[in-house]
Amino acid sequence: MNKVVTRFAPSPTGLLHAGNYRTAVFAYLFAKHAHGSFILRIEDTDKERSRPEYETNILEALAWLQLDADQRYRQSANAIRHRELLEKLVSENTAYVSKETPRNPGDREEVIRFRNPGGKISFIDIVRGEIAMDVSDLGDFIIARSFDEPVFHFAVVVDDADEGVTHVIRGEDHIANTPRQMLIQRALGLAIPAYVHLPLILGSDRSKLSKRKGAKALTEYRDLGILPEAMLNYLALLGWNPGNEREYLSRKDLVEIFDLSRIQKGGAVFDETKLLSVNQHWMRTLSDDDFLKHLDIDLTDFNVEKFRKAVPLLKERTHTFTKAREMLSGELSCLFAEPALDRNQLLAKELEGSPGLAETALGGLLEAIKALPEGVSADAVKEAIMPFADAEEQKRRGGRGAVLWPLRYALSGADRSPDPFTLISILGPEESISRMRKAVGILKG
Ligand code: GLU
Repeated sequence: MNKVVTRFAPSPTGLLHAGNYRTAVFAYLFAKHAHGSFILRIEDTDKERSRPEYETNILEALAWLQLDADQRYRQSANAIRHRELLEKLVSENTAYVSKETPRNPGDREEVIRFRNPGGKISFIDIVRGEIAMDVSDLGDFIIARSFDEPVFHFAVVVDDADEGVTHVIRGEDHIANTPRQMLIQRALGLAIPAYVHLPLILGSDRSKLSKRKGAKALTEYRDLGILPEAMLNYLALLGWNPGNEREYLSRKDLVEIFDLSRIQKGGAVFDETKLLSVNQHWMRTLSDDDFLKHLDIDLTDFNVEKFRKAVPLLKERTHTFTKAREMLSGELSCLFAEPALDRNQLLAKELEGSPGLAETALGGLLEAIKALPEGVSADAVKEAIMPFADAEEQKRRGGRGAVLWPLRYALSGADRSPDPFTLISILGPEESISRMRKAVGILKG
């Protein structure tokens, strides 16, 4: 069998979304699985709409996903070849220069049309099976606006053949183009590749995912702090499954097991919530050091030890590195800087009939944690504190909360924060006691 060659052929006419890159992921995985090669071809024949910044964005997104191409082409570099084959078709009278009546300003007076023999064209699509279409209705379709301006159908067919592409893997929206492209292939005597049309990717409203409907450019997910391994994992499962319930697959796993037979026919929904949960999975697999590297923040303002201790909290509570950074400067900022305390807040859970409980509680708990060593675990802190809180609960309903609330607030200065045991284990008994003493001072007035 010939070596498998696949390609990703994006047009740099806009920012591509996740759905577009899913095609690249499938083409890449299939090629790598078969020890074949994966080609990137930038289809920049539409000179008016192609922009270098979109091309740069495509290259960045592919580099981020590590979908490295074995060969890279730019379609415009094949202009001489396109012209040569257009001339060949015209000289053989399979195509002709057609005089047109311009209808709109800018319309050409001359284009190159393909002499459509009509009849039925059928092909086997690896996902959908046999597809047949009557091409008579297409008429003599345009294959170039001039000898130097081939349209997409012509350029794509010539380039695929010249680059030895064996499997054309692309979105289902190209199915209707295939018979037209096959007519050109036949006329040029080119080999016909296998076709693999991938199911559409739908937005959460089940309509086709599109930039116009607010789909993000793939690089926006990178900038949000999604890991490339998570995105690759997620995209691979959009319209394909490994034949079992596995949800988390590494690049290596994917290359090993990817195949075309389990590509589904029905559309696949791009679900951002699911992507975030896949990302959390991959964030959690990072070592604490790697996690810190990904967070990419300047550690000079932080106590690095405390920072390291905050990593498990971040792994537990966040789905992206952006959220993790936000949490460090929000909910977790109390780990790095002493919070300002508000007397009313300290007293917010005081029970009627138990005046002064917050103050006594802080005093009692202070004693309870005094003997704990630095580096104590949250569980050990809990063991030291809970008997005191439970005893208060025994005395009156709500006693436990009335004890734990001022403690947590004294440590964090916030409504929302990790539990007080975790806070003490990260802050250390000494810092915690100093914060609790300050709170007692505030309560004394
Ligand atoms: N350049 C085409 C597009 O961006 C893809 C062509 C193809 O995959 O055959 O839609």
